[in-house]
Amino acid sequence: MALLLLLVGAPVLAGGLVRTDCFTVSEVARSSPAGCTATPAGYHDRWLWLHAAAAPGRDWRATVRHSRFDALVVVFRYADGVEMRQSVGTGDFGSHWRIGGKLAFDPPLRHAALTGVSFGFRNLASHELLRVRLMPTRAADRGESVATLIAGAAMALLGFAAAYNLGVGAGARRRAVLWHAAWAACVLGWGLLWTQVALFLAPALAGRPAVQGSIFLASCAIACAGQFFVSSLERDVLPRWLATILNISALAIVAAGAYAAIGPRAQMALAEDLVGLAVLSSAVALVAGITVAIRRGSRMARDFALSWAVPVLAVVWTYVGNRGLTPDDDSGQLLVLALCALQTVGLSLIVSHRLASVRRERREAREREAALRALADTDPLTGLLNRRGFVSRVETALAADRPVGLILLDLDHFKSINDRFGHAAGDRVLSAVAGALNAHAGEGTVGRLGGEEFGVAVIGLPIAALARLADRLRRAIAGIAIAEVSAEVTASFGVAAGGETFESLYRAADQTLYRAKAQGRDRVAIAEPIDPPLALVS
Ligand code: GH3
Ligand code: MG
Ligand code: MG
Repeated sequence: MALLLLLVGAPVLAGGLVRTDCFTVSEVARSSPAGCTATPAGYHDRWLWLHAAAAPGRDWRATVRHSRFDALVVVFRYADGVEMRQSVGTGDFGSHWRIGGKLAFDPPLRHAALTGVSFGFRNLASHELLRVRLMPTRAADRGESVATLIAGAAMALLGFAAAYNLGVGAGARRRAVLWHAAWAACVLGWGLLWTQVALFLAPALAGRPAVQGSIFLASCAIACAGQFFVSSLERDVLPRWLATILNISALAIVAAGAYAAIGPRAQMALAEDLVGLAVLSSAVALVAGITVAIRRGSRMARDFALSWAVPVLAVVWTYVGNRGLTPDDDSGQLLVLALCALQTVGLSLIVSHRLASVRRERREAREREAALRALADTDPLTGLLNRRGFVSRVETALAADRPVGLILLDLDHFKSINDRFGHAAGDRVLSAVAGALNAHAGEGTVGRLGGEEFGVAVIGLPIAALARLADRLRRAIAGIAIAEVSAEVTASFGVAAGGETFESLYRAADQTLYRAKAQGRDRVAIAEPIDPPLALVS
């Protein structure tokens, strides 16, 4: 949306540029256009005056794109020799500032005609960066509205992206997402200062403090972008030495930006050259890093290159624009702001999508693992726990010092059921037995320990209650009726309790089961207490 506004708005942002071919330099804030030159010199600690003929008609506005100076005086000259002055200075732009980084001055209405207008800058950084316009008021108003809309939309998006990435990054503990949040926050801060929106809250920032703050925040944004790149890459796709260079150049950019912001004024040009140098070396390292990482198959590096290409081009365009190589307009920085906002939202979506798919993959892997574990513990014919699963459950309970009772049962003359009615019928009997055990075992854990041998483990029952449960199970099995098996299905039971290991418990139950078989089958036998006996809950 911001981009669309910008494209629609660009024509109304431009136009009416004052030719910078008539400069004078003076010691005091008074000057006349006489003897002006197109190449002024020695104005950095004096007043530099730009003189222009007044635009035809009355209804126009003078705008100055915010540049580096300590004070600005606008002198409107009238045919009757009267001069009207308006001025702003660092820390006090009065009502002259406009969103979009501009200052606006409306000529006072008088009977006499306007003949000329002069702009005096005290301690100006560079006359080459000056953009002064005389525009019809309505066009200027439209331009200001468009700039306000674009800046508002872009900063709302950046604010949202910064908060969102901060939340996601902190929640998922992802360093890359936090760098992304920091990047969005720096661009937001840069935008607030550069567009002058910050002056709503802090008018004293007007002028130099805002310019210096925005240089510092722009440096921080570039450093954060580099760190975002380094920390978001897959493991081992970036050579260590390149990562080190990127980290060092990020520090250098922030240091140079801080120096430009708070260092001595006389060193300003040097500081800005340092920022430029640090940004340039970082850009070279970044391009090298992206190239190497893409060659090593990094998807993240490719996404990074794609998503940053457009804002970087906009930055380059603005840079070139400042040097006067593009058609005159003021939309460069707004374009950068709007594109950064869109790119940040785009990157936020990519990051969330990645995090969501990583989480989904992890969950699916966990589910697959759980399913495999369950399969390894399950008997495929009956769906009961197999021996492995059953033993592990009992051992877990024993390890927790819980009193386990074991009911062991073996089908009687099962071989003859197989022989008479076939193996498939035998399988059906085994499934029916499993169903009967499940139905009557209550809290007990049921397992198939092998062939036609089953176990029911119960925690915390005294031996008499275990014996009663075993007898209920015996009767349930004896009640099984299967159409193609015209023979009685019965089982013999051995019941044991106590014991410190599954082995000892099983041995006791097995010996007892053998006794039940010997005594005639289809019955429950109870083991002697195992030595050492465990106190059972009664
Ligand atoms: P006892 O009363 O002494 O236990 O006699 P039994 O016939 O039940 O004992 P035996 O150990 O002689 O025979 C067990 C039979 O169980 C032999 C084997 O074919 C059968 N069997 C083991 N596993 C399966 C199975 O998964 N399906 C079927 N249908 N039969 C099985
Ligand atoms: Mg057997
Ligand atoms: Mg048997």
